[in-house]
Amino acid sequence: MSSENSGQILKINAENKEFKEKIQDLSGEKIDLCFQCGACSSGCPMVQEMDYLPSKIIRMSQLGLKEVLSSKTIWVCTTCFNCEVRCPRGIDIANVMEAIRQVVLRQKFDKVNIDMLTPEELRELPQIAIVSNLRKLTA
Ligand code: SF4
Ligand code: SF4
Repeated sequence: MSSENSGQILKINAENKEFKEKIQDLSGEKIDLCFQCGACSSGCPMVQEMDYLPSKIIRMSQLGLKEVLSSKTIWVCTTCFNCEVRCPRGIDIANVMEAIRQVVLRQKFDKVNIDMLTPEELRELPQIAIVSNLRKLTA
């Protein structure tokens, strides 16, 4: 870092702060504890399908960036808890993912619409997959 930039303080505005607090309240996680070690991302089995790494989702949440709401990552997370057991700061990242999904779902946005599935899909898809998708991804 150049001497010109040293000492700069990153500030978030009131809207970002409110959004960050909402994520913290809903998840019950102290996301400020994250120091971006990357252990969660390196152990996540789903990163190839994600647009943002789990550690980046946590960083964006710390900054109160609402871009996390449109992230593919929050829907791809399988809640496998690999990240949680690796996190040296004890953050349950899956809880944070769930909190962000809740914010989206409270806007009455359905990721899965059963009416859009064709009769063939309904016949061939495993029932457990349909039920679990409806539970996780619909408002
Ligand atoms: S809980 Fe989600 S983010 Fe964490 S390792 Fe599993 S898939 Fe990745
Ligand atoms: S493992 Fe924990 S501390 Fe490390 S980047 Fe992920 S959330 Fe942050």
